[in-house]
Amino acid sequence: MKAIALNIQTQKLSIEEIPEPKIQKETEVKLKMLEVGICGTDREEVAGGRAFPPAGENTLILGHESVAEVVEVGQAVRTFKKGDLAVITVRRGCGSCAPCKSGRSDFCYTGNYTERGIKGRHGFHAEYVIDEEQYLVKVPPELKLYGVLTEPMSVVEKAIDEILTIQQARLPDWRDTTLYKNKKALVAGLGPIGLLACIALRLRGFQLFGMDIVDTGTPRTKILQELGGTYIDARTTKTSDIPTKFGQIDLILEAAGVARVEFDLFSALGINGGYVLTGVPPTSSFEINGGHIVHDFVMKNQVALGSVNAGKNHWEMAVRDLTLATTKWKGSLQALITSHISPDKILEAIEHPGKDEIKTVVNWSAA
Ligand SMILES: [Zn+2]
Ligand SMILES: [Zn+2]
Repeated sequence: MKAIALNIQTQKLSIEEIPEPKIQKETEVKLKMLEVGICGTDREEVAGGRAFPPAGENTLILGHESVAEVVEVGQAVRTFKKGDLAVITVRRGCGSCAPCKSGRSDFCYTGNYTERGIKGRHGFHAEYVIDEEQYLVKVPPELKLYGVLTEPMSVVEKAIDEILTIQQARLPDWRDTTLYKNKKALVAGLGPIGLLACIALRLRGFQLFGMDIVDTGTPRTKILQELGGTYIDARTTKTSDIPTKFGQIDLILEAAGVARVEFDLFSALGINGGYVLTGVPPTSSFEINGGHIVHDFVMKNQVALGSVNAGKNHWEMAVRDLTLATTKWKGSLQALITSHISPDKILEAIEHPGKDEIKTVVNWSAA
């Protein structure tokens, strides 16, 4: 069968012919890959960033955003049968720390976790893959075309779950979710993560604002508008002017991945506001108005936290929210996947993303 492998010595990405995997344990499920999404992590890997093949190998099969169809199940598999659709989770725990032992490898302390398509395990750019039942999440048939968005959506679900859990624990008015329609949420960075966050926040009733540096009328702002959001062009509106222009911002979800922007956003955060950061910026140094940020942070009872990866419950929440979104904003989901390509076009798609690219998806079902 075909697979897309990155040789980490030559840094070359190529289509390889490899043996089709066989079920070896009775808890395993064999899946035919349908679609695999491309994201910044894949681009980083191909550019020479973090990419670690399984021990003793030189190549890593890429891909971690999947949707696949079950073709065979091991004897002990109970929750999946042939023909079911599934997404495969990415991280596998270190086996020694408390969070990993309780199924929350997204909070791993040791850093010795592995990740399919990224760290120590082959990924999903292949015609067939095998994994254990416990690492699969079922996808309903109506999500066949959008199930590939489950992995990035799981990241969004964890970020929102974390910030809402904190806000609900400390603030009485956040416990009544019907009041979210009176609260303003700002999403910074309208890439795939940002736009999926827009969907998840609208599903919870928040008034939505989206910030980016693209022209009005381009695909990202159109999707935001379809979701009922207001666009803020960061090139013409200073972050610190947002409260005067648009009112108190109660929740900020950052998905821009630019450290300076991530700090600037504190100036938009309102009283009792919650700020969750998901963008992973390059490590660089710059000056900030630190006194002002800390002054307001205390005086306004603000909370900020970083969030990465997701628990299996967040994958399930992602499937639930994406399914709901297909009934409300199918057009937005369609517009979010800006191109479908065949596996042989992957290098070009990774190295030269189109100007209006949001999410490029590799179609394996025809391979
Ligand atoms: Zn990704
Ligand atoms: Zn761990």
